[in-house]
Amino acid sequence: MYQFQETSSGGTMGESSRHCIFCEIVHGAGEASICYEDASAIAFMDIQPVNAGHVLIVSRDHYESLNDVPPAVAMHLFEVALHLGPIVRQLSESDDLNIVVNSGEAAGQDVFHYHVHLIPRRTGDGFDVPLPFHGSAMPDRTLLDAMAARIIAELRDPVRRTRASRRVATA
Ligand code: 5GP
Ligand code: ZN
Repeated sequence: MYQFQETSSGGTMGESSRHCIFCEIVHGAGEASICYEDASAIAFMDIQPVNAGHVLIVSRDHYESLNDVPPAVAMHLFEVALHLGPIVRQLSESDDLNIVVNSGEAAGQDVFHYHVHLIPRRTGDGFDVPLPFHGSAMPDRTLLDAMAARIIAELRDPVRRTRASRRVATA
């Protein structure tokens, strides 16, 4: 029987990863229709696809979300999505795609092993990423400018930035 083990290259195998279905798939203990593999990523067909050709691109190491996935791994998964995109478009006979990351419970993440969705889209398929959000009013320009200024201030202050990312990591 498959035993969960410490990962060799930085992934964390904490409480949440012990029963991680994507770790099982990565380690060959769970059934999946794999369509791409390399040293740090694996891609397989979503078990409940929006449309035929819906692919999940998954890190081999267990990271829960954008809060703990190393930037290089996140970038690599996005590169794999871009690499697979034209093939999925061709096979699904649709030019349209969503590349989606749900990071965290409030953002709709269900499987807490970081992954990227590559979703071929068809007109009238009923799926939606509803932006702009109908429940939201357009804020005054001063509010948009104030938030942009706060982001710029954070970017300019590496000490504050480090503190902020530590706060996120320990929250
Ligand atoms: P999330 O909401 O976490 O972004 O998306 C999780 C995705 O994983 C869903 O689209 C769901 O259909 C898919 N999924 C959940 N369990 C399995 C599984 O055991 N195998 C495969 N291939 N996909 C799964
Ligand atoms: Zn996992």
